[in-house]
Amino acid sequence: MSGDRRREREALVDRLTDRRDLSAATERAMRAVPRHAFVPADRQAGAYDDTPLPIGEGQTISAPHMVAIMTDLLEAEEGDRVLEVGTGCGYHAAVTAEVVGAGNVYSVEYHDSLARQARETLRKAGYGDVSVRAGDGREGWPAHAPYDRAYFTCAAPDFPEAVVEQVRAGGLVLAPIGERTQTLVRARKREDGGLDRERHGGVRFVPLQ
Ligand code: SAH
Repeated sequence: MSGDRRREREALVDRLTDRRDLSAATERAMRAVPRHAFVPADRQAGAYDDTPLPIGEGQTISAPHMVAIMTDLLEAEEGDRVLEVGTGCGYHAAVTAEVVGAGNVYSVEYHDSLARQARETLRKAGYGDVSVRAGDGREGWPAHAPYDRAYFTCAAPDFPEAVVEQVRAGGLVLAPIGERTQTLVRARKREDGGLDRERHGGVRFVPLQ
């Protein structure tokens, strides 16, 4: 097996695109990011299965199909500035970086240990320009606002006000919303600051800490 595991990754993305239409940008990003570089050493065998995997601190990296669906729904373009809440191992941030450019991704992670590890992994994988901050993502990351897009990889009872404030009018926010049962919700911010929401099906994410 070659060290970069490209064949396994191509096979995984072929299976994803057989099952659903993905935008060209999403497909390209999923083919580019080496998921095995982000999953823990003892989970290497399953790096190209379409399943979530534990990453420590009771957290999980999402299944590849969920990362692909969210990347599609985010409709981001090269140069867009994106806020991510829930860096985890950094995999999803790297996929976003493939779409918008690594220097445009700002990610907040609650657990300091995960933030530190993600920074290191991102750097080694060539995504060192992704910015990672340890802290509470409910507060967003005001220093780099306004964002064109913001998304959560952990479930929130509703879109936190500070994050909505940091997204520009016309921008999109995407999050699993709910507590025991969750719905993936995408909302466009109106000029008056309100949100136009669309529901995109039931999902299961770890809750916001
Ligand atoms: N996108 C990640 C998946 C991470 S799972 C990846 O590709 O690996 C969700 C992450 O959200 C966890 O790492 C968890 O620690 C983080 N999280 C939970 N509550 C948070 C909060 N209030 N602020 C920031 N991150 C939070």
